[in-house]
Amino acid sequence: MLIDTHAHLDFPELAGDLETVLQRAARNHVVQIVTIGISLAASQAAVRLAQSHRGVSATVGIHPHDARRLNGDELETLRALGRQPKVVAVGEIGLDYYRDRQPRDIQRECLRQQVELACELGLPAVFHVRDAYADFLEIISGYRDSLKDGVMHCFSGDWQVAEKCLDMDFYLSIPGTVTFPKAQWQQDVARRAPLDRLLVETDAPFLAPVPYRGKVNEPSYVVHTAQKIARLRGCELQEFARQSSHNARKVFALPQEEIADSPE
Ligand SMILES: [Zn+2]
Ligand SMILES: [Zn+2]
Repeated sequence: MLIDTHAHLDFPELAGDLETVLQRAARNHVVQIVTIGISLAASQAAVRLAQSHRGVSATVGIHPHDARRLNGDELETLRALGRQPKVVAVGEIGLDYYRDRQPRDIQRECLRQQVELACELGLPAVFHVRDAYADFLEIISGYRDSLKDGVMHCFSGDWQVAEKCLDMDFYLSIPGTVTFPKAQWQQDVARRAPLDRLLVETDAPFLAPVPYRGKVNEPSYVVHTAQKIARLRGCELQEFARQSSHNARKVFALPQEEIADSPE
């Protein structure tokens, strides 16, 4: 039993054939998927998808690539979405100094606004952070006491950064890139992190794991990532799957339902 904690089911590569994608997930023992918002429109789409499919939950938020100072109306829209059934977190939000698509001060402001929203709604947050861990940790430490929980999605830092995130009691979500031969930092983190702090994700349609590297990623492939992590840790796939699914259910307070493997 596996849970894909981060996918973009509303992207055309997946949404175009979603029923088949979900059936393949169910047949590969992926019982739940968290579909992630990156903009107001994508968050609305994520909520609709979650509410119309068993085993799918949603997050709502503005990605750092799209960061701006959110006005009152935009915040109110996000707040209303955040209160919808099957919305389990605010995200993905964060800082991306690698692509640097928006000015950094705007990224920080947009992150603060949305963390405050997560605190207000009593929801955990899903963080996207690239090449910006120092600023991220500084901002977040100011909110840690009022923020319910945090997930470092697609965690790409080294062990030193991982330890700082673990000190905050955050979860580290490991993507398919851990299966790439050159991903030594990520493999090191996947090996050393406490089992009760690890999650797995696809970030579908991106970052397909070996043996599908370069192809369109989908939730059913998360088993290859889980298999790799289990091997790195010297444990059985079943054991890793059981604990990481337990972690996912806990952090996102997932409803007790599973993806149906035949169309409803
Ligand atoms: Zn991301
Ligand atoms: Zn994502």
